This record gives sequence, C-alpha cells and structure tokens, in this order.
Amino acid sequence: MTYGSLTPEVPLGPFAASPIRVWSAPGKASKLHATEHCSRIRAGRVTPSELPLRAVVERMCPQCARYGPWARPGTGVGLFLGALTGLGLLHELGSYGEADEDTFTDDEVKQAAVLLLQAPQDDREDPDADEEEEDDWRARREAQQVRDSVVGQWRSAAASLHRAHRLLALFPWLKPWADAGMRLKADHVALLQQQAGQLLSREALTAAADVAALGTPALPAEDPAFALLGAPTVVAEELTSLWRRWSCQAADSWEHPREHDHLAYDLVRAISSRRKGREAALERAQELVAAWTLALRAGAAGEQDERMLLVRLPEQGLDDPLGRDEVFLGRLSEWELGVLACWATNADWEGLTVTLRVPEPVAARLLSQPSALSCLTPEQAVAAQDAAPRAPVEAVRPGVFDDTPVSERRAVTTGDLRALRTISREVDQLYLVLSVEAGPEVLPLPVLEARVARGGRYVVVAAAGDLPDALVAARREELTTDAVAGDDPVWTPRIHQSSHPDFGRSLGAAEGERLVVRLARGRSRPDAALRCLLLARGVADLRDLGNRYDASGERRDPVPFPVWDGLLAMEQLDLRPFRPVREDGAQRGGSGLPLGILASVQLYTTDAAGQFEGRAHSPDCQHQSRDRGLSRYYDLVTVEQMLDAERFDPCSKCGGYATRRLSTTQVDYYRAAHQVHDLAQQVRWVLAHPDLGTDSASLLAELKQRDAATSPDTWFDADNEERQWNRFIRRLLQQLQATVAHPRPS
Ligand SMILES: [Zn+2]
Ligand SMILES: [Zn+2]
Repeated sequence: MTYGSLTPEVPLGPFAASPIRVWSAPGKASKLHATEHCSRIRAGRVTPSELPLRAVVERMCPQCARYGPWARPGTGVGLFLGALTGLGLLHELGSYGEADEDTFTDDEVKQAAVLLLQAPQDDREDPDADEEEEDDWRARREAQQVRDSVVGQWRSAAASLHRAHRLLALFPWLKPWADAGMRLKADHVALLQQQAGQLLSREALTAAADVAALGTPALPAEDPAFALLGAPTVVAEELTSLWRRWSCQAADSWEHPREHDHLAYDLVRAISSRRKGREAALERAQELVAAWTLALRAGAAGEQDERMLLVRLPEQGLDDPLGRDEVFLGRLSEWELGVLACWATNADWEGLTVTLRVPEPVAARLLSQPSALSCLTPEQAVAAQDAAPRAPVEAVRPGVFDDTPVSERRAVTTGDLRALRTISREVDQLYLVLSVEAGPEVLPLPVLEARVARGGRYVVVAAAGDLPDALVAARREELTTDAVAGDDPVWTPRIHQSSHPDFGRSLGAAEGERLVVRLARGRSRPDAALRCLLLARGVADLRDLGNRYDASGERRDPVPFPVWDGLLAMEQLDLRPFRPVREDGAQRGGSGLPLGILASVQLYTTDAAGQFEGRAHSPDCQHQSRDRGLSRYYDLVTVEQMLDAERFDPCSKCGGYATRRLSTTQVDYYRAAHQVHDLAQQVRWVLAHPDLGTDSASLLAELKQRDAATSPDTWFDADNEERQWNRFIRRLLQQLQATVAHPRPS
C-alpha cells in the first residue's frame, strides 16, 4: 500500500457524507478543486458546488488532494481532513517507514562504532604521532557525526510514529488501513535505536552516572605549582570552578569522562605561554583531572546489578512535524538520550513511556536527580496508574463543531478538544457554548477543556471563525472607509473638556473596535481579531483570557494582542462627579452624583486594596510584564468599589488600573455627569464670589435647559438615582437663580 495522498482507499468513517464545497469545470469526470485559486485550474471556467466527501475523494485534483483546504479549519470534517492531508497522517505514514538516503548501513555503523568505542592510545613517544593524530581526529570526528545523525533520525522517527498514533486514536476507523504502515514505522524506529545503541558506550554512560554522584573532592589550593594563579583563596576558587565544569560536562555527556580532560587548559588559559611555571601548572592540572577520572574507574570495578525503571518522556516538540521551534527530546542531555538508546527494553511511543533495564548507578541517578525524564520504579508506576488511570480517547465524529445545524449538535468531548489542539495549530481560542447549568457563555479553550475534563456537558455553538460574515463585514467596511490610509493615527488625543462631543469616547467600546481594526490592519487575517473581539466581549471575567500556556506548556495566546486594546481602555475614569461634596465648599470636592450604570464597570489592577508592597499598576504599565494583557494575578473591582477604595495607591505612570470598555450609553452618562459637575463647579464659584458680579446668563440658560430635559431612563438602574440626579440639577438652578435675583451689594 502506498501512502501520501488522499485516495479512495482511505476510509472516511462517519465523515463520508460530510458536505464539501468544491470547484470544478463542467463535465462529470472533471477534477474537483478545494479552492478556486488552485494553480491547476484553467482560467475562468470553474463553478462551485457541494458534494459529499465520499464523492469528492474519487475526483480530487492531485494538488488539492495533498494540500487542501477542503473544509474550514476547526470544523469536524476540517479536523479530519487536516489530520490526513498536509503534514498529517498521510505524510507521517509516508515518512520514516523504511531506510532512506539518510539511513546508514550496518557496515557504516559498525565502522563508526569501532572508532568511537576504542580506548584512546597513548602514542606520545611515537615520532609520527602528530600526523597520525590528525588523521585519527578527523576519522573520529566523522564517526561522531554518524552518531549524531543516527540519534537525530531515531528521535524524528519516534516523534513521527507518536504523531501517527495520536491521530489514529482520534479517528480509530483508520487503524486497520494504517496498520501495515504503522508496523513498518515501528520497525524502523527500533532499527535506528539499535544503531544508536551500537554507537554509544554503556561503560561511558555508567561512568558519567558516577560523576553525577560525586561530591567535590579535596582541591590542592596550596600546591606551589598553582602559585602563579594568585593567592591560595584565588587558586581555590579557580580549582572549584574547574571541578564544577568538568563534573557538569562529564555527567551530561555520552562520551567517557576522560574525554573531558582538555578542560585542564582552562585553568591556565589567561596566563601568557611565555610565563615561567605555566607548563608546570598545566601538567599539575592535567594530573588532577586525570585523577578524578581514575577515581571513577576504581569505584566502578566489577559486575553491577541492574534495575527496571519506567520512564515517561517529555511531550515537547511533538506538535510540529517540521520541528521548527523545538525537536522531540530536545530538552534531554546527551547522557539522557544515551541511556534511552542503550537500555530501553520496551518503548511505547504512543503512550511515551519507556521501560529501561539499567545498571544500578544509572538507576540511582535517574531516581534521585532532577531530569527531563520522569522515572518511576515498577511499583511506583503501578501505584500512579491506579491513582490516575488514563482515560481512553474518544473518537471524533461529526456533530460537534459547526458542520451541523445547532439543533443537532452533540456535547463536546475531551477527544474533540484534543483533536482541535493536536490538528489545528491556529485553533480558535474562544467558544460560545451552551450548558444546562450556565446557559450561553463565552469560554476560552483552556477553561472549556478543564470543565469538560471534570465531566461538564457543553454544546459548542460557535467559535470566532464561525461568526456570520455579515456581522464582521459591515463593521469592517464602516471602520475602514472613513480612515484615510497613511495619516490615520492609532492613538487619538484625549479630550479633556466635558463640553466636547467626543469627551469620554476614548473609554468606549466603539473606540476599542476602531483600535482593533486599526491595529490588525495589514496582518494576515485582519478580521480574525475583530471576530475574536466580538466573542471576547461576552467573557464575564477578562482574567480568564490571561492563561497563555496550554497543558503541554506551549504558548497560545487566547486572543490576538490587538484585542486587549479592544476590551480594555488603558486609562482611568475621572470619578470626581461621583465623589461626595466637600462640606467646606472647596473647589476640588465632588458633586455626589449617582454612579448609575457606571457602578458595575470593571476595573483591572494589580492591587485594589493596597495589600502589597509598592504601587498598583495597570496591565499597560512599563513596570509590569511585556504582555499587554491580564493574568490571574490581577484584581477585578467595580467602579463602585473603587470609589470607596481608600487604600488604593496607583502608580503615577499608568494610573493604576485599566478600564473595561464602556458601552455607548455608559459613555453618554459619563459625559453628562462631567458636564453637570462642571456646571456645579461654576455655580459654586459664582456663589463664592458674589462681589465680582459675573455675568451668569449663559450658565443660567444651560442649567434651565438641563432641568427641562428628561434624562434617558437607560442611565440609572434604580429610581432613587434618577430622582437624585434631577434634584441635583434643580437645586443648582435654584441656587443660581437666587443669587442672580438678589445680588449682594459690593
Ligand atoms: Zn486543485
Ligand atoms: Zn504602573
């Protein structure tokens, strides 16, 4: 069987009937394309149609068969096809299944092994030594490259095998079809491991384990040979540093510790070669390092007991078949890789667990010292399995992500969510979900995963990518057409006069939307951020969006960075209109206006109650991390709470908190409250300075107009607030009228 492209032999399981949008030229036999932009299409003759996947596979254009995209990523059928095509299962089954041009023959491996495993010869007396040494060095270097290459291929082949297993677990109906290919892959991994084992020395690895167990030996700081390095305290420091470097390098290497003798040169590196005593110091240092190696050999004599261990391999580097960011087992030292290659008796590449049969010193080191490999004894492994049995992965079927009508959706399973994570790297991070307990909610993927893992039943209604285009297109146009390219600033100046119609606008949701569009312009998918913003608006607590790392420790920002500016205004509310009136009539007092619909506005700060050392900051502050977002370490308080937060101590640079953007009605009320507060300030001034005979006609006119207007009932949640607002304006008007009617004589 051949693998590599999507052919009718590939079983489609429950996705066989999934509708696929295709483009084709007229005619029953013409090829079907996944996109109208396929390079194999002859110009201008294709029309779109919708066919079941089963029928599509029969007539696929070879180019599109390989690279798709046949369905929108994130949909059920999109996940299935993503798992097969591109760098998915078909690619994995076609690679590392047999020896290729990179694989070394058994003879090549044997030759390299002879060079790598032989003990070094002491030929210092030989007159031809120099030339021979150079040849030996070159041959040995080539043998080392063979070893590096074999170990690298072994890791890549194992990672490929794991990825193939992982995909098959999600779509189990593919297993019988893939079986032959999977066997070949497993055999090839075993062959490469066996080659790697031939090129590594078990004696060297055991000696390195012994190095890791050594304590610092006595160091001859008073030795006259080292006097040229400085005072005995300096010599002691230098020798300790030499010991540390030697023991760290030797312990983490797959070479024998004696191969690190050259570190002795480090001790005299800073000393001129003409200086008297340098040679003697170097010789003494070499003796010292050689003695450390000899001490190991004395300790390691004789047969050693062996122990069984279970090792769990780290998952990093498995997600990307091209290993762009990180390669599988890339965090392991040479020593750890060597141990795996030499002593693994059984490797489960699907479950990423390896059984080792190792000499006692190696076992002792693996069990006692920190390592990227987590090791358990067989007894511990049984206990761990009993404590947390691994749940079987559920198969992915249609009906969860948006390829069916909402009324027919099934509840999302851990398997569905795992498929989403494994297959699509650019996965949507926010989901509009429905549950019986909570009704509709917008949840970030990690939160949804955690709740589903705990047994929660959720139905996915939409991800950001599913949102109707009409919703986005209208706003996209509206927000870009009035913008003149080039001289369209990102940040607009803040307006301080409350009488200005745009006062408070910078705090509003509409400004947030403008910013998202402005900041996302020119990016690869400019509407992605806007779509994401639309859903993120529904997230109850924005700190839920602050979880930037998924279960495997990989960074996945829940929202694209411009969205933070869409959600949060990195500025503070001026709350003076709502603060109590100062009895002494001071100008800086408040007006005691009701908070109305501003009471529940969310503010995010590092420290609302002044509990911690230092000032409170907003997520935008330079004093904070570089990320322009929230984390769970932030406090969430409402404006009402902030008004009473006497111990809140804001940073002068950032203002101490960010404001969750205000709705249009909230901005309107905020502006009105500031206008009334300003009028009140003017009235107070007139009352305080009767002698100046200020012309207050326009002020009076303005107050009369305010008094006559009815405030929108959307501004207040409670009746008494509306009465409070109206009474405040009436009282101002009366005070001013009284003064104008009875001016005090000057
Ligand atoms: Zn095509
Ligand atoms: Zn700050």
